[in-house]
Amino acid sequence: MNLEQRAVGAYLGMAVGDALGATVEFLTPREIQVKYGTHDAITGGGWLGLKAGQVTDDTTMALALGAAIVEEQAVEAEAAAWAFDCWMRGKPVDIGNTVRRGIVHFRRTGDPESPLSEHDAGNGAAMRTLPVALFTYGRRDELMVRASRAQAHVTHHNPLSDAGTECVNRMIQLGLGGVEKLDLLYGPVQELSTAQPALAFRQRREENPSGFIVDTLRAVFQAFFDTDDFEQCLIDVVNRGGDADTTGAIAGMIAGAYYGLDGIPERWLKSLDPGVRAHCERQAVALLAAGGGR
Ligand code: MG
Ligand code: MG
Repeated sequence: MNLEQRAVGAYLGMAVGDALGATVEFLTPREIQVKYGTHDAITGGGWLGLKAGQVTDDTTMALALGAAIVEEQAVEAEAAAWAFDCWMRGKPVDIGNTVRRGIVHFRRTGDPESPLSEHDAGNGAAMRTLPVALFTYGRRDELMVRASRAQAHVTHHNPLSDAGTECVNRMIQLGLGGVEKLDLLYGPVQELSTAQPALAFRQRREENPSGFIVDTLRAVFQAFFDTDDFEQCLIDVVNRGGDADTTGAIAGMIAGAYYGLDGIPERWLKSLDPGVRAHCERQAVALLAAGGGR
C-alpha cells in the first residue's frame, strides 16, 4: 500500500467515523444497546437529525483548515482563523462552545491566538488536526509541533490539548509510514503518558467519553490498540457513546492511516455523502503534494 492510499484512508476514515458516530453522540452505551444493538451502520439521525452519510463539525472544520493550508502552502494561524471564521458563517450543523468563543475572539480582535486557558482542554483542536499531520509528514517534528499549535490555538490554547493533538499527529504520521502498531504505543502514546501523566494510557475501559481531550483520547487509544482492523476499531469506539462523532473521527484518522484505504468497509464508503467523499480524497492528495514530505 502506498502513502497516498494511507493518506486518503486517513481522510475517509475521519469522515466515516464522524458520520457513524454522530448517530449515537451523547447516548450512553446502554441506550445505544437498547436502540441499535451494536451500532455499525451509517444511518444519520442522532440529536442533530442528520441525513445518512452527513458529517459534522469535525470533518467540515478539518476540510476548511486543509483548504487554507493548500492555498497558503503553509500552516498559518491567521489563514486558519479566517478559514474557521468563514466556516462558521456557513452555518455549520454543529459547533462547540470553545470553537465559537475562539472564532468570536478572532473577529473582535484580529488576533488568531486565543488567550491561554486552563479550562479549554476540549477535543476540538485534535478533531481537525489531520491536515496538519499530512502537510508536515516526513518533516522535522518541531515543524509539526509549531504547525499543530498554530491551528489549535485559534480556539484551544491549552497544554493538554496541545500534547494530545501532537500525539494524534505523530500516530497518524507513523501510520502513514507503515510501521508496526506497537511502535505507536511505545512511541507517541508512551511519550505522552510521561509528558502529561493526566493523559496516560489506561486499561480500564473508558465508556461514555466526554469532549475533554483526556477522556476522548483514552477511548480512542483503547479502541485502536484493542482491535485488529479498521471496522472493529470504529465500532468499538462509537458504541462507547458520549462524544461519539469525535472519538469516531479521531480513531478513524489514526486507523485510516494505519490500515489504509483498503481497510475501510466498502459499505461505509458508499454511505458517505459523495461530495464529502470527493473533497476528502482530493484534499488528502493535495496536502501530501503541498507538504512535499515523501
Ligand atoms: Mg461533531
Ligand atoms: Mg462531537
